[in-house]
Amino acid sequence: PAREVQRPPAAPTREEDVNLTHPDRIVFKDAGCTKADVADYYRSVAGWMLPGLRDRPLSLLRCPEGAQGECFFQKHHAGSLGSQVHALPLRQKDGKADYLYVDSIEGVLELVQMNTIEFHPWGACARDPERPDRLVFDLDPGEGVAWKQVVAAARDTRDKLRQAGLESFVRLSGGKGLHVVAPIEGGPSWDAVRGFCEAFAQAMALHAPDRYVATMSKARRGGKVFIDWLRNTRGATSVASWSLRARKGAPVAVPLRWEELGRIKRADAYDLPKARRRAARLRDDPWAGIDTLRQSLPALHD
Ligand code: ATP
Ligand code: MN
Ligand code: MN
Repeated sequence: PAREVQRPPAAPTREEDVNLTHPDRIVFKDAGCTKADVADYYRSVAGWMLPGLRDRPLSLLRCPEGAQGECFFQKHHAGSLGSQVHALPLRQKDGKADYLYVDSIEGVLELVQMNTIEFHPWGACARDPERPDRLVFDLDPGEGVAWKQVVAAARDTRDKLRQAGLESFVRLSGGKGLHVVAPIEGGPSWDAVRGFCEAFAQAMALHAPDRYVATMSKARRGGKVFIDWLRNTRGATSVASWSLRARKGAPVAVPLRWEELGRIKRADAYDLPKARRRAARLRDDPWAGIDTLRQSLPALHD
């Protein structure tokens, strides 16, 4: 059988290709979703999900006791994860370690077999991990911030990025906030990317201190949106588009077209069945162009 990933629809794998143990085990209690449902979900969204996930170093959120049980983040490779989960040696503070990445739906399903619920890629590719190609502004609403304010913050971020020469894309986190993602041509270092993103977030907070904060220490203060630029540092991740979240109700991180944002009421508007329906109905990728846009990291001015 053909095993090439198609977009859409995505039905690249026969069920028996990846061994799934305990398919009836409950993963999302409230939503009544089993491990088999999670595997089916990832199989059915794979065509849309893989372009943003494959060949990037990944952190996993694994939940052996289900989404409401104890979960743990894993960033290192282990041989036991599966034959299609690949190792990538990267330097870290204490020397070198094997990070992990997948390049196929089989790899994704092997990780589901290992009770992975959430997938968190780097903003850089496995073949060039020291040269980030994605900027992520993670908009985190503080206590008491209305959804409309989060939407306004995302549009404001988009407009200001555009002024700096960067087109961007928006994603519901599946939790509380939004992510605004801008592709850049690989080239600048992590330090350069971090420098730009920090300065960009600080400029937003300086301009509208009543609406935004750009420092972690002030992020807990209510009423404002934290422009979390710390995703743009080496080793940091943000959740993949189409990833399930290990939270109540089986919510999904969903990529949107900017025009759709106004119709959405909350960051966890899509649960597993809704996201799966969206994937089935989509004709074009809401983030079409993200891999072909050629835009470079703006220079820092002071
Ligand atoms: P929300 O909209 O609720 O903020 P989020 O996914 O943006 O959802 P954040 O807490 O803002 O959640 O975290 C941003 C990103 O940082 C996550 O998507 C994840 O990739 C990464 N992250 C968060 N917590 C951890 C952790 N404990 N270990 C590793 N990475 C983490
Ligand atoms: Mn966030
Ligand atoms: Mn955050």
